Amino acid sequence: MAPFSTLTQAAAQRPDNIRHRNLRKHLLTRWASLMGAAVHFLFIPLFWVLDHSLLALINVISVAMWLGAYLANQHGEQDRAVYLITTEAYCHAIIATVILGTSAGFHFYLLTLSCWAAVTHSVKWVALVLGLMGMLVFLFLEFPLSQMFPLESGPDFPLMLATLNLSCALFTMVGFAMLARHVYETQEETLTSMATRDALTGLHNRRFAGEYLRQLSGDRQDGTNTPYSLALIDIDHFKLINDKHGHKIGDQCLIQISDLLVRHFRRSDVLCRWGGEEFLLIFPGADLNEILPVLEGFQERLRSLPIMHNGDVISLTVSVGVTSHTPGMHYDLLINRADHLLYRAKAEGRDRIISDQTGEQVPPPLYPTSAKRQATTRTAPGRRSHANQMPPVKACLEAGLRSGAPP
Ligand code: GH3
Ligand code: MG
Ligand code: MG
Repeated sequence: MAPFSTLTQAAAQRPDNIRHRNLRKHLLTRWASLMGAAVHFLFIPLFWVLDHSLLALINVISVAMWLGAYLANQHGEQDRAVYLITTEAYCHAIIATVILGTSAGFHFYLLTLSCWAAVTHSVKWVALVLGLMGMLVFLFLEFPLSQMFPLESGPDFPLMLATLNLSCALFTMVGFAMLARHVYETQEETLTSMATRDALTGLHNRRFAGEYLRQLSGDRQDGTNTPYSLALIDIDHFKLINDKHGHKIGDQCLIQISDLLVRHFRRSDVLCRWGGEEFLLIFPGADLNEILPVLEGFQERLRSLPIMHNGDVISLTVSVGVTSHTPGMHYDLLINRADHLLYRAKAEGRDRIISDQTGEQVPPPLYPTSAKRQATTRTAPGRRSHANQMPPVKACLEAGLRSGAPP
């Protein structure tokens, strides 16, 4: 699988001159041109030893053309690379078949290369023409031409060669199909990640959070809801940090806090950048008693996070509003409640956690004034594992991408 992981890395390091939408074709052409050059190179000594110096010479030209295609592709001229490869392949198949006959099997490569051309040319109708052309050349060589040109060589040589060529053509066709699949899947993953992750911190973005909460909090066929808690975190006086140290250092602080969030919370907790210097944490299956001590632990770690700039220690603190879901409650209301509690944490002096312990009761002004609210900062016993209560994140991702709607 090494070439596949190399491909994944290549996908991550897209050359500047390759447009994102051409990346797949670029990667396929890169691998095809290198493989083609290598295979043609290997045939040079074989033809030489078998006393077919003309074919050996033609293969030298072929190697040059495949390498030319590689270079064109690297310079962003991918269609030129496709023309070079198809011209070489179709002409070479005709010449080799005229000299050695169809039983030498060189025309089998047309099957693979026609499929490759149909996938890689950027213009659909040209791709179709190139693909069909390869197939027509194959049919022409297989039937009419084979009757015109009988075999030139002895019986063993072409038989051995035909088996070799057929095997190579078939295996490279499957290899190419797998490569194409891998490239497409890798790019799909990249696009999915781009659509659901925040570019600066790598945390989930607001869009993902909305889609995830939609799944968690409702619309289940069986009418059940997964219990969950959520925390809204806001960095204290972040504007001052930007003003004093600059926006870049501000960005670094956001990255460091995000890294700490990832290290501190469980893999099953959903960590999102809600916007600016605000984070939304979703804890599926967990109640306040489980969540509060973990949030306090996070605050402790954040206070001692060593962020230095120009000899100054940048100390970061956060205010947190944390609340729990109650069955049937819409997640928008829950976020409003967390926001309200966060506002109170700011108003009461910052660097603190305010939670609404009663759960079903709601704070004004969003809810009836008769609602009784208890806001507390508290410590509670340790947390249990509840990873198996997680909703399907992948399904959520797919739903998010399908819906195309912002949360
Ligand atoms: P408070 O304690 O009341 O939350 O004060 P604050 O300064 O953190 O809040 P305020 O809303 O006044 O300012 C938020 C700042 O966050 C202003 C904005 O420039 C900064 N900010 C938002 N997004 C980014 C970002 O992506 N990078 C950087 N460096 N700063 C950001
Ligand atoms: Mg804010
Ligand atoms: Mg702030």
